[in-house]
Amino acid sequence: MPRRKTEKVKNREQMLDMFSQLDTVAQRFALRYVDDLLSLQNLEKATEKIRTLKATGEECCSFCGKTSKEANHLIAAPDGAYICDECVKMCTQVLEDNK
Ligand SMILES: [Zn+2]
Repeated sequence: MPRRKTEKVKNREQMLDMFSQLDTVAQRFALRYVDDLLSLQNLEKATEKIRTLKATGEECCSFCGKTSKEANHLIAAPDGAYICDECVKMCTQVLEDNK
């Protein structure tokens, strides 16, 4: 079935399937950036979720959008921002990698 250009790619498998239709050079190039593209999509989704939750007043991680029910821990900042345990771990990893 032909995919519409405007359709959003939903997961890694779907993306890899699309890449298999490209020529070798383009495929290699696309494969290098698949995880970056997925990160961007996740970031877009998280941003939208955070915006929605903030509007309803529900507490959520300001980085990934997890609510207090979805995260093990939600740490509050004085200004109403929060960070969840998973994002703290990720930040720690980023700091470790950039030492
Ligand atoms: Zn988080």
